[in-house]
Amino acid sequence: MSHTTSQAYSQLMSETREAALLESCGAVLGWDEQTYMPVGGAEHRSNQLALLAGLAHEKATSPRVGELLQQLEAARDVEPDSVMAANLREIRRDYDRATRLPKRLVEELSKTTSLSQQAWVAARKQRDFPQFLPWLDKVTKLKREVAQAIGYGQGVPYDALLEEYEPGMTAADVTTLFDALKADLVPLIAKVKESGRVPRREILTRRYPIPAQQQFSIAAAEAIGFNFQQGRLDVAHHPFCSGFGPGDCRLTTRYNEHHFPGAFFGTLHEAGHGMYEQGLDPALWGSPAGRACSLAIHESQSRMWENLVGRSRAFWKWLYPRAQETFPEALGQTPLDEFYFAINDVQPSFIRVEADEATYNLHILLRFDMERPLIAGDLAPADVPGMWNELSQKYLGIQPAHDSDGCLQDIHWSAGLVGYFPTYSLGNMVASQLFEAAHRDLGDLSSQFARGEFQPLHQWLTTKVHREGRRYPALKLVERVTGEPLSHRPLIRHLQHKLGTLYGI
Ligand code: ZN
Repeated sequence: MSHTTSQAYSQLMSETREAALLESCGAVLGWDEQTYMPVGGAEHRSNQLALLAGLAHEKATSPRVGELLQQLEAARDVEPDSVMAANLREIRRDYDRATRLPKRLVEELSKTTSLSQQAWVAARKQRDFPQFLPWLDKVTKLKREVAQAIGYGQGVPYDALLEEYEPGMTAADVTTLFDALKADLVPLIAKVKESGRVPRREILTRRYPIPAQQQFSIAAAEAIGFNFQQGRLDVAHHPFCSGFGPGDCRLTTRYNEHHFPGAFFGTLHEAGHGMYEQGLDPALWGSPAGRACSLAIHESQSRMWENLVGRSRAFWKWLYPRAQETFPEALGQTPLDEFYFAINDVQPSFIRVEADEATYNLHILLRFDMERPLIAGDLAPADVPGMWNELSQKYLGIQPAHDSDGCLQDIHWSAGLVGYFPTYSLGNMVASQLFEAAHRDLGDLSSQFARGEFQPLHQWLTTKVHREGRRYPALKLVERVTGEPLSHRPLIRHLQHKLGTLYGI
């Protein structure tokens, strides 16, 4: 590589790294806002976050970055398929997106969503949608503005928002995959219902003292590979994972003394995200090649550890004796198979984050069906609760009694994360497809889990997925690792296999 090229590249890397540093400062403040900040700090915090978001945006859109990109794109000595080529491709994409957004819009969005999240917490607590409506209205308008500013070619405005989380995917692509999923999943869930078999659900709502849950969840997250020397777990209203940078990754969960799965599987889920963050190449931090590929790939990691590992019989063959020791009152007399059936109970329910592996995807179809018209302007924010309840009836066969179990349950819309929901079900599909490939490469994973061995799978994921960062776009990464384009079939095969045994279908 010529001296000029390498000099321009290292300048570009330093600009990108500084923007990433500013962004990670915002992540620290965002994490604190969700965990320890007193309510009184809301207004001031929103000013801090808006300032940082504005500075990061300024940095990422500086004319200097544009010049360096142009110079490097014209250079003829950049190896195709190299880390450098991937970085240039991704920085160009981010730069084009960011330069289309006026600074005023970025700051307004940051300030509004920070306040709107506070309003959401209060409205959810009081089951009071009208209290949240003005904020939903503001956020929706701003997101529509974002879509217009970014542009969407021949597509729909929603594409511009989806692209932020799933580069290279459009609403039409998602619709094709979701329609195929719906066609196989809905009859499968119907068969479960027709089987008439029901686990002993009360097993999971017995008394599980919170300190014991905390200790048990942390031990499990550590056993699967989350490094607590470089991360921690705290309590927040809504579970999430935030990777601040090398050596510091934060997880949150929420505890309920009478609901075991919420915190436990929530922790495994967030630990899966955290292990992805911890598996990124620290030497590439601040550049796209050292960043997670996309949200669907991120979600595939959390789903894999939560569901494909954490809800497998082999996993509990290993962990159940310890669960019985930790929760003698709740589980001392309960056989493993009854517990295993209970944690794999398939039953339509209101709360997405507590839904089972199968019906979970129906919650996503519902949100996807609402977000598109909301952004297109075909659905007014005031009509959100009505449409929610209608779709809940259609997909889940049930309607929430109040909005906190319905349209107020998720933080996403208050946080401006529109276009984010589809990545959860895409992540489920990717997880199953990767898991099948890991199984082919590593031999019988079940017998490894039954011995408490998670290192081979963790290592495989680190090499094949984490270390690759954004070197390839998500769909290409999936195809490279698994040898097949992304499909809903591995997910359906996994569910058919598991539910077939449990429900005799
Ligand atoms: Zn997740």
